[in-house]
Formats: sequence, structure tokens, C-alpha cells
Amino acid sequence: MIVGSGFSGLGMAIRLLEDGERDFVVLERAGEVGGTWRDNTYPGCRCDVPSHLYSFSFAPNPTWSSTFSPQPEILDYLRDVARRFGVMPHVRFHTELESADWDEGESRWRLETSQGQITADVLVCGQGPLSEPKVPDVPGIDTFQGAVFHSAAWNHDHDLDGERVAVVGTGASAIQFVPAIQPRVGRLHVFQRTPPWVMPHPNRRMTRLERALYARLPLAQLAMRAGIYWARESFVLQFRHRRLRKLATRVALRQLERQVPDPHLRQKLTPSYEMGCKRILPTDEWYPALMQPNVEVVTEAIAEVRPHSVVAADGTEREVDTIIFGTGFHVTDIPIAGVVRGRNGRRLADAWGGSPAAYKGAAVAGFPNLFFLVGPNTGLGHNSIVFMIESQVNYVADALRTMRRQGARTVEVRAEAQAAYNDELEQMTRGTVWVSGGCASYYIDRNGRNSTLWPTFTWPFRERTREFDEGAYALGAPALAAPAVSAA
Ligand SMILES: Cc1cc2nc3c(=O)[nH]c(=O)nc-3n(C[C@H](O)[C@H](O)[C@H](O)COP(=O)(O)OP(=O)(O)OC[C@H]3O[C@@H](n4cnc5c(N)ncnc54)[C@H](O)[C@@H]3O)c2cc1C
Repeated sequence: MIVGSGFSGLGMAIRLLEDGERDFVVLERAGEVGGTWRDNTYPGCRCDVPSHLYSFSFAPNPTWSSTFSPQPEILDYLRDVARRFGVMPHVRFHTELESADWDEGESRWRLETSQGQITADVLVCGQGPLSEPKVPDVPGIDTFQGAVFHSAAWNHDHDLDGERVAVVGTGASAIQFVPAIQPRVGRLHVFQRTPPWVMPHPNRRMTRLERALYARLPLAQLAMRAGIYWARESFVLQFRHRRLRKLATRVALRQLERQVPDPHLRQKLTPSYEMGCKRILPTDEWYPALMQPNVEVVTEAIAEVRPHSVVAADGTEREVDTIIFGTGFHVTDIPIAGVVRGRNGRRLADAWGGSPAAYKGAAVAGFPNLFFLVGPNTGLGHNSIVFMIESQVNYVADALRTMRRQGARTVEVRAEAQAAYNDELEQMTRGTVWVSGGCASYYIDRNGRNSTLWPTFTWPFRERTREFDEGAYALGAPALAAPAVSAA
């Protein structure tokens, strides 16, 4: 059983099909595949990792229109991949996993879904690191008479033309949709808690020649992909070395100075923490949008929402017609952990106690036959998550092959292996900007631990996931039948 049909779920399904496995299903709560790229349809949405790299290595796409593709193209790409590789017949749409309980006697998962019960021998969760929108609990929000929506559930039926709009948040989504809506709205109040570090965006249109070349010579695109991969790997050094960070900081500050001549606004937009502590955002359009006469940057927190206005902490009130939350997602408080119960009925959220931890981002002691894709400590600040997903998919596929080969009914990571692995991650995180840069970010959980990011180059992760290391696991009880999924 695979949960989710984004890059993770699709990648896993394709790999199972390649391995000759047909007895699996993909649960998807929505009505189509695509994950992040199906849900985030806000104006201006595009990836911030080059498309040659932000795509499956086994399915290059020669037709990207620009070097950093817009959301509709990535969604089309994922739909196409799902169809081409034969995943669609395995997907159960409009089926949400509501809970998963490990059945000790049967050695399998009992799953409650929105469409009824299912059992599965192995559960692979690709539910997404950024799939549960987070909306702050603002007093009075329920009394608001205008439109309210989150950037991940954009209300396209609502016409923003000429409206007075409050945008809450200045993260990766807001810096994309604010420049897109600014020319249309009457007035835009951007509520900023912490300014992001912003770098120039190298996006450009792909030329006809490039596209023709990649269509005819796929190797050329693979070579480009490799070049981009290694260039981006080098970015990780700035998270570890302050001197390198200074160079990048200078580039960012130069862009800020050039694009924002007003010293008062510039001061508001200058981060007080070190670059890289939060996600670095590439855009050439953010600052020019904030410079427009119909835009105001508010650095006061929102104290209250009234039926037709937003009141800031300093008591100032702004009449607005629409409130858009660009406030991100539940990241370290992984929602699925609240409904997964392993050995002895223990909830995963309780086992984690606010600090998600796994072995190789995939397996958790006390939760047999459960694997995560983009689990704890697999996120990146510098490179493509698809690289991490493919590494993990390979690892899980090898785990399943090992189970089959050994006739094992259960596989469970040993607690000591998980602890040692996480100690190592902790060591690697020490001294990095994520924990010393003076910011609060979604990389760091409520216990102050980095439970989100893989803290170094990605190629060592690929090395570690190349083969399933069964020595770190307990393989139990002979299988009665080949691992299978069945609907009750
Ligand atoms: C706006 C935005 C831009 C981004 N840009 C980049 C970028 O440029 N580069 C980058 O590396 N990363 C980016 N990311 C991160 C992005 O989430 C990952 O790159 C990648 O898409 C994750 O794929 P996934 O399959 O793991 O998760 P998702 O794409 O989130 O897919 C998860 C799927 O699981 C389904 N699901 C969740 N819970 C359940 C359940 N209980 N039952 C059934 N189905 C369920 C969801 O409906 C969804 O379809 C971005 C994220 C966002 C939100």
C-alpha cells in the first residue's frame, strides 16, 4: 500500500511495476495525481530547482518551456509519467488514509480509509512533506465577512481585481503569488513576520534549439542534469561555512539595494538572521512588487480579524475584502504520525514526541513493515528532493526484494541502528547555519532539533540507500504468502 500520488508515491509505484510487482495500490485522497503540483495552483507557482533536475532521472522531459518550470507543466509531467508507466490502474482516488494499526497477530497493517477498511502487508507513506496547509489561529478569523483562503487551496472563482487584500506570510509561496496579483488588486497589505533572504532568479525560457537537442539527444539533457546536480551540491558548503555564506549574502544584499532604493522599506526587508537559516528564495520580482504604490509591508503581527478588517498588534486597522494565507505547511508535526499506531498500539506521534526521527528517513523502530518517502531528515535546502525520493524508492524496493528472498513476513529497523544513525545526523547538523543562524524555521522542531533536513551533500545519502542493509533490521516470521494488499 502506497499513500500519496506525488513524486514519491508515483516513483515508488513505477519502481514496483519495474520489479514485476502488481499487487499494490496507491491511495490518493484527491481526484487526480500530482501531489504538491496538483494542489498549489496559485498564480506564479513554479519550482525553484531547475527542471532538468526536478524531474525523474528515468523520465527526462525535453519540452520544459523554461529552466524553472511553472506549476501547470510539472503537473502535466506527473500526469504523463503516471499514465506512461502504467500507474493509473493502481490508484484509488478520493480515498484518504484515516488510520493505520499494526496487527501483531496477523503481521500486517489494518487501514481505515474514507472508502472503508483495507489490509496491507507493507505500508509506504509518501504523504508529502508540505501537503497539510497551516493556517494560524488568528482571533476573530471566523467573523471575517470577505473571502479567506490558503495559497495551497487557491480560490480561482474569487475575483481579486480591484480588491483590498491582506497577504499573511512572506515565504516561498507568497514571494511567487504577490508579484502575480499585485497589478490586479486595488490595495495589498503584506503581513511579514520575518523577511526572507532573496537571491536573483536565473530562470529563462528554454530555446527552440535546446528543446530540439534534448528531444533528439536525451544524453545531452542527462549531461545537463548532471552538471546542474553537481553545481547545486556545492551550495551545501555555504550552510556549513560562514565565509562562503558571506559571499552569497553580499549578492542578496546587492539585489535588495538595487531593487529597493527606499531605505525605510529596505530596512524592513533586511533579514536579521544569517542567510540559509531559512529557505533561500530565488526571485527577481518580489522586491519590485513591494515597491509598487498599492503595496504596503506591515511588520506588526496580526492581533485580530474583524468582519471587514485586519487589526495589527499596534492597533492599526486595515479594511480588506480578502485574506490570503501564505503561511506554509505542517512540517515537523507530520500529520500522518497522529493516526499510525505500531507495536502495542503506540502512536507514531507519541513515539516521536515532537521530534520525528527515522532510519535513513524511511524506517522507524516499533513500526514494522512501514516505510516513509521524504521522511524525517530527507528535506533539502540546496538540491532537488526528487534525487532523495529516487534514493529512498530504491532502498524500499530492495527491502521488499529482501523480504521476498528471505521469506520474511516482517521487517523492522533495530532501535540501536536508528539511534546511532540519528546521533550521526545530530553531529553533522552541529555548527550549520540551520541551528546557529539565529532564526526559527520549519527545519527545526519544537524540541529544537533538526528533524527535517538532510544535513550534508546528497550523494552520501544515495550511497547509504543503494542497498537495503538488512543488518540494521530484524527480519521476522516466515511469510505465509508474498507481500500483498487486499481490500476487505
Ligand atoms: C508550492 C510548493 C513549491 C515547491 N517547490 C519545490 C521546489 O522547487 N523544489 C523542491 O525540491 N521541492 C519543492 N517543494 C516541495 C515538494 O513538496 C516536493 O518537492 C515534492 O513535490 C514532494 O513530493 P511528495 O510526493 O513527497 O509529496 P506531495 O507532492 O505532497 O504528494 C503527497 C500526496 O499524498 C496525498 N496524501 C497525503 N495524505 C494522504 C492521506 N492521508 N491519504 C491519502 N492521500 C494522502 C496528497 O493528496 C498528495 O497527493 C515545493 C512545495 C510546495 C508546496
